[in-house]
Amino acid sequence: MKTIFGLKQFKQAVEQSSDAIFITNRRGFIEYINPAFERMTGFNRAEILGKKPGIIKSGLHDRRFYLNLWKTIASGKTFRDTLINKKKNGALFYVDHTITPIKNSHGEIINFIGIWKDVTEYKKLEKVKDDFLNIAAHELKTPITSIKVYSQMMENGIARTRDEKLQSYYQKLKNHIDRLTNLVHELLDTTRITTGKLSLFKELFSIEDLVRKTVREVEEIYQVNNFRIIADKDIRIRADRNKLGQVILNFLTNALKYSPPNSEIVIRLSFDKSNVILSVKDKGIGIPPKYHQKIFERYFQVETAIKSKDLSMGLGLYISSSIIKAHKGKIWVESKEGKGSTLYFSLPFVEK
Ligand code: ADP
Repeated sequence: MKTIFGLKQFKQAVEQSSDAIFITNRRGFIEYINPAFERMTGFNRAEILGKKPGIIKSGLHDRRFYLNLWKTIASGKTFRDTLINKKKNGALFYVDHTITPIKNSHGEIINFIGIWKDVTEYKKLEKVKDDFLNIAAHELKTPITSIKVYSQMMENGIARTRDEKLQSYYQKLKNHIDRLTNLVHELLDTTRITTGKLSLFKELFSIEDLVRKTVREVEEIYQVNNFRIIADKDIRIRADRNKLGQVILNFLTNALKYSPPNSEIVIRLSFDKSNVILSVKDKGIGIPPKYHQKIFERYFQVETAIKSKDLSMGLGLYISSSIIKAHKGKIWVESKEGKGSTLYFSLPFVEK
């Protein structure tokens, strides 16, 4: 049976939506708001119509944020991000904000439609989690550093015993300390990123050297030798060497964690006109397409990965993505479930 969905039903759907919906004209002046908009902001229709959405601005986003928003929608694309707004009574609220241009039959933009989903509660919970993990990471930092130092002091003594069992226990202990140290660093880095304190210390260095050094480190910690490096040519780039090393380390350890032991992992360094491109290709479990963006979000893990025994919290790729973006680069994944994944980043070698 064919049902015709009339204008009346459309209007009802919009009026009853629990998400705030508003429509502006081409110049951004509001022409329509639904009841959820009134509930969410505390402003009524009469106070809002004819004004710009800026009336609920919190002042917590910089000019660049709004410029980017306008640039995106004026070019005919949809803009989506989390926005902090201010209610009529001054209270702040978080929304998952989507704004889409509506075009006429000539392809000219005539209106913009904005949709806000209130995510304030979710953001509050996220903050509690962030604060807790930040405190825990700070508390763990000192004892872990001591454990590491003492274990290093034991190293020679253990090597001299020639007791193979003891040596193998010691090796395992060392690997777990390294992983724990890495996790604590990830938590501390996450705090730096969320509080806008991630700073870069740029220097000029050979990218191939950094790749080879990081591969050697991972081979040592994880006692593996299934990496193959293909480097088209080497180049010196200006970037934060330590932080890029961290991104490469994360790509490599993920490739190990999510693929069968000893299966080949290929690291490729290539170049186009203005970018250096690094990829790490594994033959592991792969990532379903619907998660190709999400894996770069904070705490996100694909269900199957959560079962992995390794110490992981879904922070590695979030940190990697923040580091690459701070360098004005790009990060992405190509993957087929069950067939393997290739993680990429590209970095411009001429500073923009
Ligand atoms: P984690 O600490 O869980 O590895 P990451 O941020 O590094 O966190 O990665 C996020 C999620 O992306 C992982 O939990 C996993 O589900 C998925 N993932 C990352 N790299 C790979 C890979 N090479 N193969 C399959 N899944 C991967």
